[in-house]
Amino acid sequence: MKTSRNTTAKTAVLEVFEKSRTALSHTEIQKQLQDVCDRVTIYRILDRLLNDDIIHKISNLDGTVKYAKCHHVNRVHIHNHAHFSCENCHEITCLENVKPSYIMPHNYKVKEINFTLSGLCPNCLNSNI
Ligand SMILES: [Zn+2]
Ligand SMILES: [Zn+2]
Repeated sequence: MKTSRNTTAKTAVLEVFEKSRTALSHTEIQKQLQDVCDRVTIYRILDRLLNDDIIHKISNLDGTVKYAKCHHVNRVHIHNHAHFSCENCHEITCLENVKPSYIMPHNYKVKEINFTLSGLCPNCLNSNI
């Protein structure tokens, strides 16, 4: 049955996000779900989850796109938290308590904020000492 297979795939994608502490690229998600669904299905599910505001998109400094699951409780929000991009291991972490502050000029409506900080994540920092 088509419907139940799609639901299974969606649940599987959500589980991958749930387990991961960092943001994931499409390739990373696909690698974990090889047996469950194909590329196209994953793309479609990611699109749906983005539209439903369940996950959000993060553009990495090198131009790659990663996805992370939102932990916000309220349904209507814009993704205004900062992200941390590690230049050593290239992992992206949501910094949900770090919010950029800015003052917008009149007549601009902000729909998306891309606020990425880069440097070394705690893992890489510790292994460097
Ligand atoms: Zn790192
Ligand atoms: Zn995030």
